[in-house]
Amino acid sequence: MELETKKDIVILNYHRFGDSDDKYTREKKDFKGDLDILENSIIGDPERMNGNVIITIDDGDTSAFEIAYPLLKQYNYPAIFCISTALIGKKGYMDWEQVKQVSEDFDIASHGHNHIPLRPLDETQIMTELLLSRNIIKKNIGRKPKLLSLPGGSGSGDERIINIAKKLGYTGIFTSISGRNNPLDMFKLQRVPIGNKKYANITNNTTK
Ligand SMILES: [Zn+2]
Repeated sequence: MELETKKDIVILNYHRFGDSDDKYTREKKDFKGDLDILENSIIGDPERMNGNVIITIDDGDTSAFEIAYPLLKQYNYPAIFCISTALIGKKGYMDWEQVKQVSEDFDIASHGHNHIPLRPLDETQIMTELLLSRNIIKKNIGRKPKLLSLPGGSGSGDERIINIAKKLGYTGIFTSISGRNNPLDMFKLQRVPIGNKKYANITNNTTK
């Protein structure tokens, strides 16, 4: 996915899918509703959405594979799955076979190796997190991740993280700062968090 060619991108940030009051969980029917809104808005009113709404899903939860992946495929909607490599295969998370399958249709980004906040780490530790996750993803799906999603949103704008990411071939960093991206700063990409409807309303968040 070439983010560079887009202008005024809105990047939605999901985590889990299913029935839960948890603010990081989106109900399946609401997610489907989101995709309907996005599809219809882009087709029916390109100005309103700018045709540039991208979905990111952090953490590699099993519900991302079981619920979001088939719907995204059905809608043929662009999405990026951000995974923490040490969590893959653990209980509640996707396994490598599932990640590989997802990677055939969607982008896989790094969400660090251990899913730990990066800002408190020293440069060697940051390098380890970004290098390990990059290499393990490459080994398992056959290509390097180009994008990095900061675990817990920690380290937005941290020059050490940006420089290390650039050195390792990353071309962009997703933060947890909420907002649109105009002008586009590839190493400080803002996102709109989407949880259950109590916490987020996609139309309000993306059209204002
Ligand atoms: Zn996370």
